[in-house]
Amino acid sequence: MAQCEGKTKKGDRCKRESRTGTLFCNIHMDQEQRARTQRTEEWDRDAIVKAAIGFALVGAIFLLRFRR
Ligand SMILES: [Zn+2]
Repeated sequence: MAQCEGKTKKGDRCKRESRTGTLFCNIHMDQEQRARTQRTEEWDRDAIVKAAIGFALVGAIFLLRFRR
């Protein structure tokens, strides 16, 4: 297990172990989220694509009802 890369309130390096697959422990997970701005952008793009698919489905349902 790797050491957490978070910082304590005193400014020292956190001595806890990081969670599996992350660079931070449970306490410093919010610091990891701030460090992952690129991943946030990817998530935003994914959310936009999902929203677009949702709108397309709603539009298709509206079209089918209109034709009847
Ligand atoms: Zn930590």
